[in-house]
Amino acid sequence: MSMNQWQQQAKSALKGVQQSNDFFNTQAFTQAKFPIKIPLQYASLIDTNNPNDPLLRQVIPQVSASDSKYSLSPLNDESNSPVDGLIHKYPNRVLLIASQVCAIHCQYCFRQNFDYSQHDAISNWPAIEQYIRNHAEINEVILSGGDPLSLSDQKLEKLIKNIENFEHVTTLRIHSRSMVVIPSRITEYLIKIIAKTRLNVVLVTHINHANELSTEFCENIAKIENATLLNQSVLLNGVNDDLDSLKSLSLALFDAGILPYYLHMLDKVSGAENYEVSDEKALKLHQQLQSQLSGYLVPKLVRDSGLDSKTWLL
Ligand code: SF4
Repeated sequence: MSMNQWQQQAKSALKGVQQSNDFFNTQAFTQAKFPIKIPLQYASLIDTNNPNDPLLRQVIPQVSASDSKYSLSPLNDESNSPVDGLIHKYPNRVLLIASQVCAIHCQYCFRQNFDYSQHDAISNWPAIEQYIRNHAEINEVILSGGDPLSLSDQKLEKLIKNIENFEHVTTLRIHSRSMVVIPSRITEYLIKIIAKTRLNVVLVTHINHANELSTEFCENIAKIENATLLNQSVLLNGVNDDLDSLKSLSLALFDAGILPYYLHMLDKVSGAENYEVSDEKALKLHQQLQSQLSGYLVPKLVRDSGLDSKTWLL
């Protein structure tokens, strides 16, 4: 089968220290435990003359894992997994690890050490199907990963059809960063899949800075019908931990038809120390946002205490 444009773009992403240093004309990239991966569309949004560019900072390894004081797996995902590839923490919803692959490697990612080999929802579908059938209280299925939009449209369509077969499931949530870092991932086919499913669709983008919202992304996301569009961000030191950046992000998201939903505190994964923002600073920023933006533009400030669970900071 021939590759779609987005698949070719995913394949041509910058990988490794040498390629990245050459592209950005820097020596700032160093060997990392979480291998470097940067789609060229995302790289093209970076100001190569600015070593502190907020997009660049998200993909440069910060602290080597061996020097890190943080944990390899801060949220202990595996403990809420009754069946491989499925996480069940709250009665009404389950999360499926639909893909092991991401379009970009975010160096603050809390799942960078997750053992995906044991958690693939597609290869373990018979057991997952049985589990969801036996739990009539589940009305929402969340596709996560990795990035579920790393799957081909055909595989995604098949998975969604399988989920539609559960009569008690009414809502499908898809968490994805692919759409913003490779905007051609929003294919006509994907738009059709979303438009025709009987499920209520919630698309949750992962965007941390207004500079990530390219013209192509905004044009493509505007074509999606029949879905609620929400965004989650991570509050990251040197990326978006100032009032102007957070305000610009909320306004740019709203212009693109997306509501700011969550602003996550950093999960303390090994190597991510330099991204940490103190609780005190986060609370102050959030209060300032509340005083300067309409309520629907202010994301909820949260700290994850386990997969898909939130501890409210406010
Ligand atoms: S896209 Fe999401 S899951 Fe993938 S590396 Fe980035 S934060 Fe982690």
